[in-house]
Amino acid sequence: MNRDKDNALRARALQVIPNGMYGHESVRLLPECFPQFFSKAQGAYIWDADGNRYLDFMCAYGPSLLGYRDERVDAAAQAQALLGDTLTGPSPLMVELAETLVEMVDHADWAMFCKNGTDATTMAMSSARAQTGKRVVLVAMGAYHGAAPWCTPIPAGTLAEDRAHIRTYAYNDVASLEAAVTEAGDDLAAIFASPFRHDAFIDQELPQPAYARAARELCDRSGAMLIIDEVRAGFRLARGSSWTALGVQPDLSAWGKCFANGHPISVLLGSDSCREGAGSIYATGSFWLSAVPMAAALETLRIIRESDYLEHSVRLGERLRAGLDAVAGQHGFTLRQSGPVQMPQIMFADDPDFRIGYGWAEEMLSRGIYMHPWHNMFLCAAMTEADIDMTIAAADEAFAALAARRAALEPHPVLVALASAMAH
Ligand SMILES: *Cc1c(COP(=O)(O)O)cnc(C)c1O
Repeated sequence: MNRDKDNALRARALQVIPNGMYGHESVRLLPECFPQFFSKAQGAYIWDADGNRYLDFMCAYGPSLLGYRDERVDAAAQAQALLGDTLTGPSPLMVELAETLVEMVDHADWAMFCKNGTDATTMAMSSARAQTGKRVVLVAMGAYHGAAPWCTPIPAGTLAEDRAHIRTYAYNDVASLEAAVTEAGDDLAAIFASPFRHDAFIDQELPQPAYARAARELCDRSGAMLIIDEVRAGFRLARGSSWTALGVQPDLSAWGKCFANGHPISVLLGSDSCREGAGSIYATGSFWLSAVPMAAALETLRIIRESDYLEHSVRLGERLRAGLDAVAGQHGFTLRQSGPVQMPQIMFADDPDFRIGYGWAEEMLSRGIYMHPWHNMFLCAAMTEADIDMTIAAADEAFAALAARRAALEPHPVLVALASAMAH
């Protein structure tokens, strides 16, 4: 595949952007051949700067729920754009959107809109502390809640003081959670939980009902707020709160990424149990109340309620998981497929330094399938059975090619450096 334009852009970027790129969309921790820049997208597909097309199993790292450039969502956004977007005050859509989310998400009595997931998780933390007058916030070890100083996974430029009252527990481990709550004494403001364990580099874990219930009970007993970080998994597991199926309701939930199908908006939803605290913090941003993303969100949420987008994604996810297991086995590979099928994590057995996973991602990319070797992926509603079957056929070839070069595979140098830096 031609990479001339991508390489030229990377060289220019190095001059004017630190390291040429930053954050989660940097390809620094992906195989060499992965393109950095993309020129367009449609439905389930993306095109890189050189015009190569890929079936995209990253969905923009979450925002594409229905597929890129969904006509219904984009028409709603464009209609609002003709009226106005960022104004001196919010448009009437703000009230309608808050009403819609309060209707759809069981625990929610109110909504506060913002722009990124980090805005929503940070506001959740501040609201919980304001509501309770307490300081300690418990987060699951290794869980991602955003890139602010209190939660960024790479602490360069932050102070120990920034997370002085952030403490960890082990996800799904009731004893560990209880111990952390005991340790917090009468200073516990909140417990954060993800809908399921979707940390990078490891097998995904569904939440155990006993863990979810314990989190709720421990919060009730200590007057702390239970916060679910729905930024990644929200509306991909259910048409409302992800833990409703477990019978557990949080006080606060943070949402982002997909509920406007790629248009920039996030939201903190809360129960009356935290209305006063949320109302007392100063939270705002120049673009937080823009009307265009709100129009896109209203239309996306309508489609969420009225279509079978979720069942469709689950059906395709099951087809993908079974198909990949079958062809991997035929070539002597054992996959570790974890997480909900519509948010799959795909890694390899006996692959501690990810060399097989990286090799496979390279082989898939060269066959027009964009898959990630260590981050959970996403299916979108624009994918079809034919897309999944094409993926399985490509995987069949990719495993054959990988088996042929298995002995020559080497671990990714940056990943090795990072792992050793983290171990020290
Ligand atoms: C992406 C993500 C965030 C942060 O959202 P941004 O929009 O990148 O700020 C927070 N929590 C989870 C679980 C996420 O996946």
